[in-house]
Amino acid sequence: MVDKVGNPLFSEMPTTVFEVMSQLANQHGAVNLGQGFPDDRGPADVLQAAADALTEGYNQYPSMWGTPQLRQAVAAHNGRFYGLDVDWQREVLVTSGATEALAACLLGLIRPGDEVVLFEPLYDSYLPIVKLAGGVPRFVSLAPPHWSFGREELEQAFSPRTRVVMLNTPQNPSGKVFTSDELDLIAEFMRGSGAVAVCDEVYEHLTFDGRPHVPLMTRPGMRGRCLRIGSAGKTFSLTGWKVGYVTGAPELMQSVAKAHQFLTFTTPPNLQAAVAHGLGKDDSYFTGLAAGMQAKRDRLSAALKAVGFGVLEAQGTYFVTADLRPLGWEGDDVSFCRMLTTEAGVAAIPVSAFFAHKPVDRYVRFCFCKGEALLDEAAARLKRHFDRAA
Ligand code: PMP
Ligand code: GLN
Repeated sequence: MVDKVGNPLFSEMPTTVFEVMSQLANQHGAVNLGQGFPDDRGPADVLQAAADALTEGYNQYPSMWGTPQLRQAVAAHNGRFYGLDVDWQREVLVTSGATEALAACLLGLIRPGDEVVLFEPLYDSYLPIVKLAGGVPRFVSLAPPHWSFGREELEQAFSPRTRVVMLNTPQNPSGKVFTSDELDLIAEFMRGSGAVAVCDEVYEHLTFDGRPHVPLMTRPGMRGRCLRIGSAGKTFSLTGWKVGYVTGAPELMQSVAKAHQFLTFTTPPNLQAAVAHGLGKDDSYFTGLAAGMQAKRDRLSAALKAVGFGVLEAQGTYFVTADLRPLGWEGDDVSFCRMLTTEAGVAAIPVSAFFAHKPVDRYVRFCFCKGEALLDEAAARLKRHFDRAA
C-alpha cells in the first residue's frame, strides 16, 4: 500500500462543494438549485456553429493562444461593450474555461512569497491555486447583508509586497456588482503597491436593474495592470463547454500564456468557432440574457421570501443568497443544506464554502438560472416542507 501519497494541499482538501451537493441532489432526486448551470439548451445558432465546425472544420490543435477568429471576436467584444482597444494578436488568450484562465493567470503572475489580496466570499478555486503558486493570501472580508468595504479594510490587506489582487465582479455567491467608486478605491491601492489584478468577470453579461458591469481594466491607470477573464459558459448558457478567454497587456499575457501552455495548451477548435460566432451576436441577445435572468431572480427571490428566508438582493450572477435565521434554524448552513436536500428535496450551496478567513455560516446560495417550471417546483417543495415544519 502506498501511504500518504499526494500533495497535502490537494489530498487533504475536501471535494468541491458543487460536486458534493450535485451528487447529493441526484441521490435524493432533489431539484438542484446548488451548482450553477442553466437548464436550457443555449442559443441554437451557437450550437449549430459548433456542429458545423465539428463536421466540416479543422479538428487538430489550434494555436495555444486560441484560433485567430475567436481572439479577434474577444478583442471586438472588449471594444463593443467597454470601449477597450485590444490587440487580438498580443492581448487575448483562449483557455479551457475561466477555471483554467484563473489558474494560468495566478500561476503565471505569483512568485513564492508574493502577497495576494483576495475579497471573500471567494470562488472556491482561487485559494488553492494562490497557495500552489506560493502566494500569501491577504483577505478583504465582505459580510452580508451589504457586502461592502472601505479604505480601512484595504489598508489592512495591501502592503508593499502585494503582487496580485483577485477580484470577482459580478461576484459569486453574493451577487454583488462592484461600483465604479469601489473599483477606483481598489485601483488607488494597486497603484500604491505596484500590484496587478486578475479580474474574474465571467458574469459580465448578467447584471440586473440597469446596473452596468464595469471592468476594473477600464478605470484610470488600470489598462496595463489587469487581466480580464470571461467565460462562454456563462455568456451563452453552455457551462459544459469550458471555453474561457483572458484579455490583458502583452507584458502580463506572456507569463500567463507560458503557464497555459502546460496546463491545457489549447481548447477544442469547433467550440472556439462557435463562441466566436456567439460573441458577434446582436446587442438584443446580451440584453435579453440579462433580462431573462432578472425575471428568474425575481421569481425565486419571491418564493424564498414567501417561505420565510431573509432574501438578499442579487445585483448580478446566477445566484441569490438567503439568511436562514428567520426560519428559526439553529444549526449552520452546511447542516441546513443537507437537510434541505434530503428532506425538502431542494439542493442549495452553503455560503460558508466561499469563506476562508472570517466565517459566515448562516446563509445559503440558490441558483436561479433554471426554467420557470423547475423554479416553481422548487418553490412548491419548499412551501410544503416549511408549512409542515411550522
Ligand atoms: N469564476 C466564477 C466566479 C464562477 O462562478 C465560475 C463557475 N462557473 C468560474 C469562474 C468557472 O468558469 P468556467 O466554467 O468557465 O471554468
Ligand atoms: N461556478 C459554478 C457555481 O458556482 C460551479 C462550477 C463547478 O462546479 N466547478 O455553482
